Amino acid sequence: MTVVETAEQVFRADEVVAVLLPLPLVGAYDYRVPEGEQVVAGDVVRVPLGKRQENGVVWGPGRGDVAAGRIKALLGRIAGAPRLPEVSRRLVDWVASYTLSAPGAVLRMVIPVAEALEAPALAHGWLPAMGLEEAAGLLRLTPARQRVLEVTSAGVPLSTADLAQAAGVGSSVIKGLAEAGVLQSVSLAARDDERQADGDHPGPQLSDLQQDAARVLVESLGAGFSTTLLQGVTGSGKTEVYFEAIAAALRQGLQVVVLVPEITLTTQWLHRFAGRFGAPPSQWHSELTPARRRRTWRAVAEGRAKVVVGARSALFLPYANLGLIIVDEEHEGAFKQEEGVIYHARDMAVVRGQLGGIPTILASATPSLETVLNVEAGRYRKVDLPSRHGGAVLPEMSILDLRKTPPEAGDWGPGWLAPGLVQAIRDTLAAGQQAMLFLNRRGYAPLTLCRACGHRLQCPNCTAWLVEHRAQGRLVCHHCGHQAPSPRACPSCGEEGQLAACGPGVERVAEEARARFPEARVALVASDTLGGPAAVAELLRQVTAHEIDLLIGTQVLAKGLHFPLLTLVGVVDADLGLSGGDLRAAERTFQLLSQVAGRAGRGEQPGRVLLQSYQPDHPVLQAMISSDAALFLQTEAEARRQLGMPPFGRMVAVVVSGPEPAAVESVANRLAATAPRASGVEIWGPAAAPLAVLRGRHRWRLLLKAPRTVKVQTLMRQWLSQQQCPSSVRIQVDVDPYSF
Ligand code: ADP
Ligand code: ZN
Repeated sequence: MTVVETAEQVFRADEVVAVLLPLPLVGAYDYRVPEGEQVVAGDVVRVPLGKRQENGVVWGPGRGDVAAGRIKALLGRIAGAPRLPEVSRRLVDWVASYTLSAPGAVLRMVIPVAEALEAPALAHGWLPAMGLEEAAGLLRLTPARQRVLEVTSAGVPLSTADLAQAAGVGSSVIKGLAEAGVLQSVSLAARDDERQADGDHPGPQLSDLQQDAARVLVESLGAGFSTTLLQGVTGSGKTEVYFEAIAAALRQGLQVVVLVPEITLTTQWLHRFAGRFGAPPSQWHSELTPARRRRTWRAVAEGRAKVVVGARSALFLPYANLGLIIVDEEHEGAFKQEEGVIYHARDMAVVRGQLGGIPTILASATPSLETVLNVEAGRYRKVDLPSRHGGAVLPEMSILDLRKTPPEAGDWGPGWLAPGLVQAIRDTLAAGQQAMLFLNRRGYAPLTLCRACGHRLQCPNCTAWLVEHRAQGRLVCHHCGHQAPSPRACPSCGEEGQLAACGPGVERVAEEARARFPEARVALVASDTLGGPAAVAELLRQVTAHEIDLLIGTQVLAKGLHFPLLTLVGVVDADLGLSGGDLRAAERTFQLLSQVAGRAGRGEQPGRVLLQSYQPDHPVLQAMISSDAALFLQTEAEARRQLGMPPFGRMVAVVVSGPEPAAVESVANRLAATAPRASGVEIWGPAAAPLAVLRGRHRWRLLLKAPRTVKVQTLMRQWLSQQQCPSSVRIQVDVDPYSF
């Protein structure tokens, strides 16, 4: 299904074209090409929409569902807007059809910054036009003005928006300085952030095995569509190997996109990249300033941005000349987008590769079952890196059976660290090495209950307990963000001093660790304590410089970090995540634990991993200590095959939600009553969704399960088209739900 750019289809005056708007509307609208204009598919045009005007993309010939006399004329092409490539348009149609989303909502992922379409004003930035003294003679140097002059004195021209942000002032301050002649405007044509990676920098000398792997990837460039799994234990050099493929793509003048699960955690990766390629990649994520997003979008669309790294949405940018797609940590659940257009970025990356006729590389130490089965079926290729680079050995794993040796209480209250783990930490610190404690739970305690009346503190908007964050003195709902100061009295019975924290979060483990190891320098790391990129960079520096002895944190610590002195990893609750009956619970826990374990012993000293558990015989824990991922996956696959569960069967989740429980329930019941009857198709539910109330909305869920041969989208379209529901009720469809 590779898209070959077809000869442009030209639409002349008076012809009718379909224009798709980047808005969550049902479909494209017909417009007439006005006198004296002509357009081709992919052109960005301005169109009237009701009383407004919008920018949209010419999608193809008109659909003719509006009487000719009533068709409005489009207003004209947007001068200087890049034309949307055919492959981008096909991707929009494909994703919309697969995920049952409005095409316009998908288009909005391709064009997320409407302003980027307008021709950019010639970019310019500011530099000082005179020294401070001279400036002081012209106007009063308020602190705000001084800050601006301080920032510009570094000699790097910054745009108004960037300068305002850097100096913490409004743009009027900059305007004032410019009008007084204190600042001068310079062209930003050759700016720092436009310096691009090039493929001519030499990389490290690869080992023979790494070279073999790199060769397969490099040879796939320019050879049409392919998907290759790059599998290798943590520390085996997967990143170095796919860097070789990036270098080769750059030498061929191709663009590359690298999808990563969490862009804020890529500080170390970005440094490595810049070191390897002489310039940082372009980044794409939600925290870029609007000006930056606009520039990056244009640079991608015009082919100037050579390598883009980003979270899911980077996949949808309108690359002018994309030649390689890389999905790092392809097994990560974070690639599943759960709101708006619901899609899995890894799966859509393969689709994009296929549409564009280009190679896709999926990298992981613990690939998803889906990917492993695709390799077995011969749909994907696989290259292996079986050992750690440079003789580093994999850490030694063992289980601490908490039933036999439970943690002991102390001055700090109940304990969470078993004697074996405490001893191991002590030994590690005494040897001048670093240790890490992992617990995938933010906050101090996951549950607060009243000892007097048994009341549990619950979120007012969700079916969820409030989590105590003691450092901030607050109770927080991890689902909707609801926050309240921790009360002293029980809100139910009014007794004071009876509220008790139940169970551990990372803050509580840190409290115990600080009490047990008072000399150790402890850092607590969780997504809510992490701070911005600068704080992350500082933390990484401190750990690398051995200014930290003991790292305690959630899964943000599990991902990709490389600390040579870290030799001990303690998993405080290896059972967490195994309960709950979710389809992927075992797989996900295995992947997460493997990843955490992979932080240990990456340098010269060997590492070890201690897993605290109440169920040491669980297959996931047994797989961890035998390090036999293949066997674990086989068992897991067999279980799912027998039940016809994904990836052997197909699932679609339908969640009905709304503020009125009765209205939601009746829509859910009606859905069930009209459910499609086809051979092999089962409907489960309706039942209360796992979070029965979320952000004040009541939620019911139905699951459709079907054999792989059934085209579920067709069934779903028919089914949904029969539904009528009150405007307060929403029906959300999730094809291939990630967790259920
Ligand atoms: P992975 O992505 O598989 O976890 P990395 O590519 O991060 O592995 O490699 C682990 C560490 O080993 C990194 O610090 C990397 O720079 C180093 N490394 C890997 N291969 C080589 C090589 N051929 N030469 C020098 N250093 C290497
Ligand atoms: Zn809540």
